Amino acid sequence: MFYTSTRDNAKRVESAEAIYSGISPDGGLFIPCDIPKIDGAFIAGLLGKSYTERANAVLPMFLTDFGKEEIESYTAGAYKTGFDSEKTAPVVKLTDKASVLELWHGPTCAFKDMALQLLPYLLTGAAKRCSGGRETVILVATSGDTGKAALEGFADVPGTRILVFYPNDGVSPMQKLQMSSQKGNNVGVCAIYGNFDDAQTGVKKIFTDADIKKTLFDRGFSFSSANSINWGRLVPQIVYYISAYCDMIENGSIKNGDKINFVVPTGNFGNILAAYFAREMGLPVNKLICASNENDVLTEFLRTGRYNRVRPFHTTVSPSMDILISSNLERLLFSLSGYDSEAVKGWFGALSANGEYTVPAGMLAKIKEIFDCGSCDDDRTKAAIAKTWKEYGYLTDTHTAVGTAIYEDYTVRTGDMSPTVIVSTASPYKFSGAVLEALTGKKPEDTDDFAMLGEIEHITALPAPRNLVNLRNASPRFTDICKAEDMREVVFGMLGIQ
Ligand SMILES: *Cc1c(COP(=O)(O)O)cnc(C)c1O
Repeated sequence: MFYTSTRDNAKRVESAEAIYSGISPDGGLFIPCDIPKIDGAFIAGLLGKSYTERANAVLPMFLTDFGKEEIESYTAGAYKTGFDSEKTAPVVKLTDKASVLELWHGPTCAFKDMALQLLPYLLTGAAKRCSGGRETVILVATSGDTGKAALEGFADVPGTRILVFYPNDGVSPMQKLQMSSQKGNNVGVCAIYGNFDDAQTGVKKIFTDADIKKTLFDRGFSFSSANSINWGRLVPQIVYYISAYCDMIENGSIKNGDKINFVVPTGNFGNILAAYFAREMGLPVNKLICASNENDVLTEFLRTGRYNRVRPFHTTVSPSMDILISSNLERLLFSLSGYDSEAVKGWFGALSANGEYTVPAGMLAKIKEIFDCGSCDDDRTKAAIAKTWKEYGYLTDTHTAVGTAIYEDYTVRTGDMSPTVIVSTASPYKFSGAVLEALTGKKPEDTDDFAMLGEIEHITALPAPRNLVNLRNASPRFTDICKAEDMREVVFGMLGIQ
């Protein structure tokens, strides 16, 4: 099976090369030329199976140039240990209609682990085929969770270096400590002055700069990406949508063949795009509901067809969704346009030149068939945490709470009572300040993260994840802050290049 680029639909590469390069040299994103199909018999075959077995059934359909046994050894390494749930990605039933898919049982307590525990295996497997013996330098821009998950995944993986940039004032204290205390001899972490979009734009610039590329190449390095622009980040995420569907059958919410909704708390459009691909494969999906915080650029786009990033940037209690440039939307538009790379180049050219673009009415109609959406502010997010706890005894983090709030709005507005899976993207203990405030109805007195974590344990009697509790004893190793325009120098510095 081949992959093409959103900016050059004549391009053909195999999955190893797509994963190894991260982004196409033309600046486009890789996407499969054809989406493999599944049916009811395929789903039936996955019932009663473990998450790893389900991954072993789905991943080879996209990674045809990797061996089946090779993939099985990767998933065994990624998912059998390091997750504090036997089911890896369990589905918890809230009501007859609504269940929650918990994607935060991995080492960093957020959904990025689902992909980033597997990506190092995929990337080193791809490097064996593509690198010519070069060391792979993984550059990451993070709004908090990707950085730590990538550091955990790649720490001390031979043949790799990992460098992470995060917005200094744009991550939670817990996220910052998780990253700044990272162990490993091949890791580097640097804060930047600016927001996530500045970090992501900086990383993309370094990636596509021919001079930088050549300098690295001459020193025996080559770049790859652990951001969701990398196909190797998206493909593992398709698995859990299919797995959740199987779990919904197993928990009696649906029969095989029934259509369900997925509600996805969204920032960079990576998670929900994986749901779109699962739907394209043939998973019975009614609506994909895109939930945003106050940074509502996607809500406006999915409603009007106009993407306009020229708007105030809000720092919210769901920081991993504080994003105004959603990279992965490019893959959706390419797919919905029938793989029209000229159209995509036009839209994204307009986005960088004028900060906006508008898609044609026909495409907007297609979008509306598949997607619904909504956004909410911080007060609503906290109210949703309180409500879900009070009504169901179920505690959500701030990102997931954006999802539950938007789901409530959706059912009221549409009356749609299709069985629904709300995707839960982080442990509530990762964002303890806002969660505690939601539970008590007042600003916490002691704002020390570990004190608040203890307070939540006290109120809810739910044990906090060990990996977060253990951070209490961690000391920061990386304390540098740089300007976005100095990121290139920082990268060279970390790699020992003058
Ligand atoms: C990254 C992240 C999101 C947003 O996911 P996208 O793939 O960027 O849309 C939502 N919630 C949490 C906790 C995250 O870490």
